[in-house]
Amino acid sequence: MPVHTTADVAVIGASFAGLSAALMLARARRRVVLVDEGLNRNRFASHSHGVLGLDGVSPDEIRARGLAEVLAYPTAGHLTGRVGSITGSAGAFIIEGPEMIRADRVILAYGQRDILPEIPGLVACWGITANACPYCHGYELADRTTGLLVSGPGFAHQARHLSAWTDDLVYLENGHPVDDPGALDRPGLRRVAGRVAQVLHEAGVISGVVLADGAIVPMQALYLQGRFEPAAPFADDLGCAMTQIPAGRFVSVDMFQRTSIPGVFAAGDLTRSFASAPAAAAGGNMAGAACNQDLLGLLPPPGGA
Ligand SMILES: Cc1cc2nc3c(=O)[nH]c(=O)nc-3n(C[C@H](O)[C@H](O)[C@H](O)COP(=O)(O)OP(=O)(O)OC[C@H]3O[C@@H](n4cnc5c(N)ncnc54)[C@H](O)[C@@H]3O)c2cc1C
Repeated sequence: MPVHTTADVAVIGASFAGLSAALMLARARRRVVLVDEGLNRNRFASHSHGVLGLDGVSPDEIRARGLAEVLAYPTAGHLTGRVGSITGSAGAFIIEGPEMIRADRVILAYGQRDILPEIPGLVACWGITANACPYCHGYELADRTTGLLVSGPGFAHQARHLSAWTDDLVYLENGHPVDDPGALDRPGLRRVAGRVAQVLHEAGVISGVVLADGAIVPMQALYLQGRFEPAAPFADDLGCAMTQIPAGRFVSVDMFQRTSIPGVFAAGDLTRSFASAPAAAAGGNMAGAACNQDLLGLLPPPGGA
């Protein structure tokens, strides 16, 4: 495939992190091209919360507004579609996707993919009444009978965390031993043993869960901590150092959002375990500015910051 587009910087992923990075680069009058297939992590939720100035606005609208702001700059471009590979090195990266792009630098902002437990009915509730993050949707779901679906160690801590949003918590042991029983000793908390076999819902609005023995536990909200994995393999392909935690993996970056590979920057959920749209945008903001400084030879050597 011949090269169709040449750019100073190619940004993979045009959501909170990628758009913020591209905005900084466009304002530095860099030729920046964004490539995105439209599968942002919070696409299951109708509203985005905790985003200053945009609290409660839909993820689609925030992305559309952000893209329009970026594309108002004449040196910015956007391609819709999936990137299949990234090869090369600083000064000559080749990005294969909807078009073949040659770029001096790349910013990886393709996010994480959530891996949910395989429980019938759960996916339909995801982002509506079943969530991982109480800061994102806990306010809207507050004071309801709320389930906490345990999937490993550390959940007693999460039960205490959720006390900010409900006094009526059902701790669904789901076959996992309780690691810190003292942390569960609070009024309004009920422990339920047994594996969760099904989530009951109507159009994503949960009404309860069915246990393996057939018992039904009523509830109107559910929290769980799933696992996650990078939404694409490019950081691994390029040889970037990664950080492993029990829930998943993310790309290791320094304070300038540099990965361990020269010319490769990363930002957003791909670089952290705390999923947050404003935090992703902040990382993108730094990645865009630092990438421009790298092109100018202004960044200190890695490790010397
Ligand atoms: C259900 C749910 C609700 C949430 N609600 C909130 C909330 O209310 N407030 C909040 O602050 N946070 C919320 N979050 C967290 C928030 O979604 C993330 O922190 C945020 O989306 C991260 O932004 P990002 O730019 O790093 O990645 P993403 O938003 O995930 O964007 C990554 C982009 O990369 C693209 N991409 C991936 N692979 C490729 C490829 N190979 N080629 C081309 N493009 C590719 C995707 O299409 C996507 O557009 C929620 C998360 C979930 C799961």
